[in-house]
Amino acid sequence: MIRKIQKQNLPKYTGLEFREIYCSDCKKVLGRYNVKYYSDAKIAELLKISHESHIRDGHKIDLRKTRD
Ligand SMILES: [Zn+2]
Repeated sequence: MIRKIQKQNLPKYTGLEFREIYCSDCKKVLGRYNVKYYSDAKIAELLKISHESHIRDGHKIDLRKTRD
């Protein structure tokens, strides 16, 4: 029997998407922010406020998109 799967019946991806702030110089994740609540602009602002020392020291910061 061939079951016809309607588009709306397909499993929807329900995981959360995060923006991860990673410092390549310290080799660690500085923070993870749910993209649903934090815009890129907000994350850039947080980065400046909370992780200023890394930026001041010229560390390379990556903003990676991850999923749970
Ligand atoms: Zn660093």
